[in-house]
Amino acid sequence: MSKRPQEIKMDQLIIISGAEVYSPEKCGKKDILVGGGKILAVDDEIRLNGDGVYIKRIDADGLLCLPGFVDSHVHICGGGGEGGFASRTPEIQLSSIIEGGITSQVGVLGTDGTTRTMSNLIAKARGLTEEGIDTWVLTGSYQFPPRTVTGSVTDDIILIQPVVGTGEIALSDHRSSHPSLEELIRLVSDARLGGMLSGKAGIVDIHLGDGSDGMKLLRELIENSDLPYSQLQPTHTNRNLQLFEEAVEYAKNGGYVDFTTSTTALFIEEGEIPAAEALKRMLESGIPVEQVTFSTDAQGSLPQFDKEGNLMGLTTGKSSSLLEAFREAVLDMDVPLEEAVRTLSTNPADRFLLPSKGRIEPGFDADILLLDKDKLQLHSLYAKGECMAA
Ligand code: ZN
Repeated sequence: MSKRPQEIKMDQLIIISGAEVYSPEKCGKKDILVGGGKILAVDDEIRLNGDGVYIKRIDADGLLCLPGFVDSHVHICGGGGEGGFASRTPEIQLSSIIEGGITSQVGVLGTDGTTRTMSNLIAKARGLTEEGIDTWVLTGSYQFPPRTVTGSVTDDIILIQPVVGTGEIALSDHRSSHPSLEELIRLVSDARLGGMLSGKAGIVDIHLGDGSDGMKLLRELIENSDLPYSQLQPTHTNRNLQLFEEAVEYAKNGGYVDFTTSTTALFIEEGEIPAAEALKRMLESGIPVEQVTFSTDAQGSLPQFDKEGNLMGLTTGKSSSLLEAFREAVLDMDVPLEEAVRTLSTNPADRFLLPSKGRIEPGFDADILLLDKDKLQLHSLYAKGECMAA
């Protein structure tokens, strides 16, 4: 009989001591006790008599402690290809996820649902989870009808563990397959049912392009069905001013919106609103912070088209843009730290119903991001209690 390999853990318990904790709520200076991948206790001062137990104390005085970021839109096995096979973007590496302060993510396919497959997406998600970053996926790609594993969005969500919804379905984009209102209602209903029956979010991630229709189809869906706003996750809503203004109105009516943090100087010159500024303007418009999330679009292609839709150039989205956008929101846009933490950690975890994610609280996973207080630079990152960067 073969012996199962035992993982030897040097640090059975860790105490992260004296950091200023945002759970996302501002909690002040706390000690955090971590064991078995979980947060066991959060208190003013934790002292343990560890007879026979190895306890490691980490001095985090002068640091900020936040729940690790949750990136809900990542092309984990690459994306793109709009310029032919040579323009397919590469799959994500663990090191770049860590750079972004990210401890959980949701993988998506994207433009190409032919040479990028659900099998590949699920395998990559499982690999990243084994490496320490819990990763879920959405079934389907830009196209309608979505290409799924079982032939049904509902069945994929119910039967396949890492599948928590469908998308990114493209709307208002020349690369979309232009589903009708009825088709979209059917898709969202299928995802909702799958979510209800499996205790998952059953969320539909909607890619919005530069097309003149903007969010029209989503407004019509809400008007013409009994489906709630919470089922829809429109993303890239900061890509131009018209779409952003539509997103503000959509949110005022109760909708949830996602801003993409990966960008280029040229995109901003052409009218994209940086995610940090978009958050600031949303909050100033009176939108509750719970309705706003950020995601990176990492490893997706950022293609540049001319007016005729000809491809002019292409770069790749980056995980590190999430931490950069957080820094920009807090340091340049004066967004309160607590609200920024919600936007990047707690809200996406809640929206995608990711179990035990997005909070520094006993019982939650020990996904802990430590930043220096002044410049908000990455100091260290723990994912389920394992040190990923220090
Ligand atoms: Zn997209």
